[in-house]
Amino acid sequence: MPELPEVEHIVRALRAAIVGRRIVAAELKLKRTAPGTSKPAFSRMLRNALITGVSRRGKYILIELDANRLLTTHLRMTGKFICLTQDDDLPPYAHVVFHLDDDRRLVFCDMRQFGRMRVVANRHRLPPEILSLAPEPLSADFTEQYFRETLRKSRRSLKQLLLDQTRVLGLGNIYAAEALFLAGVNPMKSAERLSKARSEKLYRAVRDVLQEAIDAGSTLRIDLADGNGDYIGTSERFWRVYEREGEPCVRCGAKIRRVVHGGRSTYYCPKCQHN
Ligand SMILES: [Zn+2]
Repeated sequence: MPELPEVEHIVRALRAAIVGRRIVAAELKLKRTAPGTSKPAFSRMLRNALITGVSRRGKYILIELDANRLLTTHLRMTGKFICLTQDDDLPPYAHVVFHLDDDRRLVFCDMRQFGRMRVVANRHRLPPEILSLAPEPLSADFTEQYFRETLRKSRRSLKQLLLDQTRVLGLGNIYAAEALFLAGVNPMKSAERLSKARSEKLYRAVRDVLQEAIDAGSTLRIDLADGNGDYIGTSERFWRVYEREGEPCVRCGAKIRRVVHGGRSTYYCPKCQHN
């Protein structure tokens, strides 16, 4: 499942591929992918739309269209965009097809069918799932003070709080574990009990792991023209604690532990993150 840094790279690839193109026709083949609309309404709302930009809020991909329209997409588990010519065969699980004015097709494939799209008629009236997101983690809106206040108001564990996109945006299971390790904080610690100094450390760690992953991801192979669909090349990322249960901690040599917390695997170093 792509996390924020991967989505950022998909956004950049899409921007290069489709901005300036016009959608000649849009076909919603699987109703469930865009539950808020009917198949004919989906086509009607997008016909002849000019693609003016591609951006991102959290893991939502925002395809900006003229007349203030917006197409939002969340990839969830297996959603992916592919750019094909008119002659290419449609890959399996092609649930939405956008015919572009340069004879290419932008295709949304999704094997598991959890990916979701929504056509927003007026981008100044964003849907609740986007309005409720916390500030963008690498923007100036995500301040140290905001982070500190958010922790102080929560009795949840830090791990659970960091995964709540309406409180702290951008961390999935991998980056939450990595940020907590970098800050030397125990994932099960209650958020409200973290000291000011350690909360500052965690704040910097959150931004650092995301920025580092975006920078490292510049080597990701995102080939939108790859009809086989697996457009994110296997990255050779090195995780410090994630999926390293039983291996020695890179900092102190103690064995990395895995516990199931809030239904998810949580990896941490019992020594560096003892409290
Ligand atoms: Zn350690």
